[in-house]
Amino acid sequence: MSNYDDIKAECYEANLLLPEFKLIDLTFGNVSVAEPARRVFAIKPSGVDYTAMKVNDMVVLDFEGKIIDGSLRPSSDTPTHRRLFQAFEGIRSVVHTHSRNAVAFAQAGRGIPCFGTTHADYFYGEVPLTRPMTAEEIQSGYELETANVIVERFKNLDPTQVCAVLVHSHGPFVWGPSGKKAVENALALEIVAEMALKAIQLNPRLQPISGPLLDKHFLRKHGPGSYYGQG
Ligand SMILES: [Zn+2]
Repeated sequence: MSNYDDIKAECYEANLLLPEFKLIDLTFGNVSVAEPARRVFAIKPSGVDYTAMKVNDMVVLDFEGKIIDGSLRPSSDTPTHRRLFQAFEGIRSVVHTHSRNAVAFAQAGRGIPCFGTTHADYFYGEVPLTRPMTAEEIQSGYELETANVIVERFKNLDPTQVCAVLVHSHGPFVWGPSGKKAVENALALEIVAEMALKAIQLNPRLQPISGPLLDKHFLRKHGPGSYYGQG
């Protein structure tokens, strides 16, 4: 037993959803779950196969990056997760995958425009793309700088309204209010990326959906006036 059993269990279960939802190939993916009040988070260990992973393999760190529970090395993407928890108040879980259709947009250097209501149900407008990283950013503190370009991209965006980003030439980072919800958002992102890719193929001049349709679909599920679902 440790003081961190709750976030370790939530983190473990959320990580197991990645292969279940077919969001990862090999070990390219990880989920972290934070307890913001104590400024700690649990994350998947580095390079451990999903089939062999156990709940006690989850590594717990504080928001300054110090390991406080666990014997394995944390995921190499840990500094990115940590910086996002510091910067985006209110998020509890961060998911990183190399899911293929989202990566296709990241590699093509394009955000994902909101072409339909499936997208609008989850993301309030385009899923943004970060700028390419500089040589200095890549060579020193790469994983932390990856988060810094995300934070820079969200200067005029609300991370609770657009809960995903594409890191240029790399792939998606997605977040949410729980481990399960963040992985659901990562799956939704992959689905809308596939739909967008097909829609652009059918109509290369396709434009995003109208503002009223975007507002209707996003706002009926999110925010103070929401009425979708069972509350
Ligand atoms: Zn990656």
